[in-house]
Amino acid sequence: MTLALGCIADDYTGASDLANTLTRGGLRTVQTIGIPADDLELPEVDAVVVSLKSRSIDSGVAVLRSRAAERWLRGRGADHVLFKICSTFDSTDAGNIGPVMDALRADCGETIVLVTPAFPETGRTVYQGHLFVGSVPLNESPLKDHPLNPMHDSNLVRVLARQSRSKVGLVDLAAVARGPDAVRQCLAGLAGKDFGAAIADAVFERDLETIGQVALDHRLSVGASGLGLGLARALVAAGRVEAKAPDAVADAPTGGPAACLAGSCSQATLRQIASAEADMPVLHLDPEQVVKGQDESRRALAWARERLGNGPILIASSSTPDQVFALQARYGREAAGHAIEQAMADIAQGLVLSGVRRLVVAGGETSGAVVDRLKIPGFLVGAEIAAGVPVLRSVGARDGEMLLALKSGNFGGTEFFSDALKLMR
Ligand code: ADP
Repeated sequence: MTLALGCIADDYTGASDLANTLTRGGLRTVQTIGIPADDLELPEVDAVVVSLKSRSIDSGVAVLRSRAAERWLRGRGADHVLFKICSTFDSTDAGNIGPVMDALRADCGETIVLVTPAFPETGRTVYQGHLFVGSVPLNESPLKDHPLNPMHDSNLVRVLARQSRSKVGLVDLAAVARGPDAVRQCLAGLAGKDFGAAIADAVFERDLETIGQVALDHRLSVGASGLGLGLARALVAAGRVEAKAPDAVADAPTGGPAACLAGSCSQATLRQIASAEADMPVLHLDPEQVVKGQDESRRALAWARERLGNGPILIASSSTPDQVFALQARYGREAAGHAIEQAMADIAQGLVLSGVRRLVVAGGETSGAVVDRLKIPGFLVGAEIAAGVPVLRSVGARDGEMLLALKSGNFGGTEFFSDALKLMR
């Protein structure tokens, strides 16, 4: 198999977002959790997104992991690699965008790299090198107070230059608007003056299509899901990938019992649980017993096993904000959260051992704990259940193939659980 596109994402949720964007763009896409094993068997796919957690770690470690991911992707035939970063360019003067870009550029022998975090669909645009979040420059947006990566400068040419050994230039909107040849000309001019990277302006999706087209002439690009969209459309337009409908790829039935787990306490999830009560048996865990280490997971599993043969079930730890607050006040926020996540992971593992092959999980951290416990190396991305929440088919899982839906708190409509199960047959 030869990958048309390889991607390295610097965090998990960003990776899922990119994988979903590529899938919607017609690319059959697998997202892996961490650097895949050399012998991971993949279905026929156009793109692989390797999810790392390298955004806010030591830059040396981020470089090592990103290089290992790149080697894996190039080994699977990826000619072009997108280093996927946050659309708000989350980084500090110490990195990690610049150091990783420099290392990957050196490894693949590229002269100049196009860089743009623009993603107009979510309000991220770049003009004259300045990143805007909605209507305000980055340094006036809430990102100025980010706990790990406070962004005090909206000029990405300067921001990237401070973290990179490369000279950083600009491909301005005037060039991008004139089309691919104008961008190529501008890049060639910069490369001739020893620039190793260029921030590309982009305000509309068509700008990303132009940038995507030119990026494919090169071995490396750096950007957010918006650039993924540009690359996907360029690959399809060039006939290098035949566009595929997502529901044709990941949603072949697996059969087997179905279960839902909710660890999110968001308003949306609370409404979704209330609505699911009409469709399936729902067990509400006692969060205090979970945190105290009582055997709530075993009780939940016994409850589930009695019912799995009759249809889907839902197990929820979710409570209202005041109940959550009270529990956190008694046991500490982290300790309470961690204990409940681990209990959810125990339950997920027990359910899979009892034959569950279709699993819906509500909650970002909760999903992370479940996926880690089930040791699922990757997912093939399918049709969207709700905006941003696709059906996933496990790839290379030790317990056989299963379908999953992983939803972060606020996503999905009121009927989310039954909507998900309708697509997960
Ligand atoms: P979301 O996507 O809505 O943020 P997460 O799963 O990421 O959901 O986070 C929810 C956090 O709340 C998790 O750490 C989870 O273990 C914790 N949690 C779940 N139920 C409760 C509860 N009843 N009381 C306190 N914390 C809870």
